[in-house]
Amino acid sequence: MKPILKSGKLANVAYDIRGPVLDKARQMEEEGHRIIKLNIGNVAAFGLEPPDEIVQDMIRNLPSQVAAGYTDSKGLFAPRKAIVHYMQQKNVAGVTVDDVYLGNGASELIAMSMNALLNDGDELLIPSPDYPLHTAVAGLSGGTPVHYICDEQSDWMPDIADIRAKITPRTKGIVVINPNNPTGALYPDSLLREIVQVAREHQLIVFADEIYDKTLYDGNTHTSIASLADDVFFVTFNGLSKNYRSCGYRAGWMVVSGDKRRAKDYIEGLNMLASLRLCANTPGQLAIQTALGGYQSINDLVAPGGRLRRQRDLAHQLLTDIPGVTCVKPKGALYMFPRLDPKVYPIADDQQFAYDLLAEEKVLIVQGTGFNWIHPDHFRLVFLPNSDDLTDAVGRIARFLHGYRKR
Ligand code: PLP
Repeated sequence: MKPILKSGKLANVAYDIRGPVLDKARQMEEEGHRIIKLNIGNVAAFGLEPPDEIVQDMIRNLPSQVAAGYTDSKGLFAPRKAIVHYMQQKNVAGVTVDDVYLGNGASELIAMSMNALLNDGDELLIPSPDYPLHTAVAGLSGGTPVHYICDEQSDWMPDIADIRAKITPRTKGIVVINPNNPTGALYPDSLLREIVQVAREHQLIVFADEIYDKTLYDGNTHTSIASLADDVFFVTFNGLSKNYRSCGYRAGWMVVSGDKRRAKDYIEGLNMLASLRLCANTPGQLAIQTALGGYQSINDLVAPGGRLRRQRDLAHQLLTDIPGVTCVKPKGALYMFPRLDPKVYPIADDQQFAYDLLAEEKVLIVQGTGFNWIHPDHFRLVFLPNSDDLTDAVGRIARFLHGYRKR
């Protein structure tokens, strides 16, 4: 019998956050083990629920809106208008309702933005480490992901010299994830301006993934890179999944801004792809206006004494107390990306390391190479579990590493 094979386009596509180690964890759960899952930023799974007013508004609107059927391909007017106001608050000039696209999460729109752009062999600059969706969909779109280094010695800031060195005549754009997943880095305006300058010189599109723009610690504020120039073309992604703890609603958006005239043809491509998938789910669209205009309860969670802030501090303290473990303290988002000193922990295969930790201590993390980090010396964990569970989880990691040193 002729086997049914997957497309060759998938050869380089990976998403280890839900990869083979998670499959193993599921199997262990079926066998009756309790696994502490530090692998995924699914806030709702840790008792961090969406703001009640979003839920109530959605319930109220559901019967009439869902009955109304498909929406415009770009989405309902009112939430798109609310996003225009949000961009104005963030000093992004010249955005109209027409520039806003709603999607089933930012994920769908990130894929759409690359599909509409990349010809075979076109290059896209993507950070290393990255949120691996960007690398995966760049490849799936026929493009070539080219990774630029974020420098751990400089608090994981993008290395501008490395970015410049990797630009070729085929480079179409640069992805900037700020605040960053997996490192938690937050970029200062001076660095964002340098990236804009590179984009300006080489006529690159800036793809700005800003889905954690309100999940900020220590009183930090966020600058949208698109607010820094009107002569560069920007595509900015955001959504409700993280800042509003509503990832199950699949509500995301994309905004085109800056030098839109130069991007007329590309925007036509975006419109075409938005039409092909008809529209984003309407319940998710309905949540956006209420979320953006309502009480911003994320601020309570990240403030001193707030749950996320306490958990970040605790996880960082416990991790860096382990010999041979260092970790840049995140300024935003929900993750840490600790380094395991290779002299202390000579890891050859970090996926095997993740399997072994799971098997021995029932803790699920994601290996650093899953974020397109080249060396097998990092891993990512989420600091979403409550303090008791985090203490237990990091205690288990410490015990595992203690044994690892003696191997
Ligand atoms: N971008 C980043 C940096 C993320 O970390 C995530 C999810 O973890 C997404 C995008 C996907 O967001 P959404 O749930 O809106 O598809």
